[in-house]
Amino acid sequence: MLLTAVEEARAGLAEGGIPIGAALFAPDGSTLLGRGHNRRVQDDDPSMHAETAAFRAAGRQRSYRGTTMVTTLSPCWYCSGLVRQFGISRVVVGETRSFEGGHGWLAEHGVQVVVLDDPECAALMKDFIATRPDLWNEDIGV
Ligand SMILES: [Zn+2]
Repeated sequence: MLLTAVEEARAGLAEGGIPIGAALFAPDGSTLLGRGHNRRVQDDDPSMHAETAAFRAAGRQRSYRGTTMVTTLSPCWYCSGLVRQFGISRVVVGETRSFEGGHGWLAEHGVQVVVLDDPECAALMKDFIATRPDLWNEDIGV
C-alpha cells in the first residue's frame, strides 16, 4: 500500500512539486480507490494535498467505513479533518519525523493509525526540505 503513495510522492517531485503522496484503499485492503499527490505548486492550489487528491480521485463512495488512507507523511489538520469528516477507518503513515501532523489526534478519536517510520519516505522529505526550504515553509505555514 505504501508503495503506491511513494510512487505518487516521486511523481510530485518530478513535476517540481512537494513530494507527498497518498492513496485510498477499499475495505478489502487491496482495491485502490484513488491516488494522488500534493499539487500546491503544480495547480497553484494550497488545498490540493496528497490526501485530498487521492480522496477526490476516488470519487463518491457510499461509505468510507473500513477504508484506509495511506500517506507518505503525517496528515496535516486539514487532511486529518477530512479523515474524520468522512469516517475513514484507518490511516497508514509513512513517516512522522519531518512533520508531526494529526495522526495522534486521529488515534485518540478512534481511527486506527499505523506509523511505519519508513526510511524512504523520511529521506524524500529530508532531501526536499534541504533543497526547497522556501516551498516547505510555505506548505506548513511558517
Ligand atoms: Zn494535508
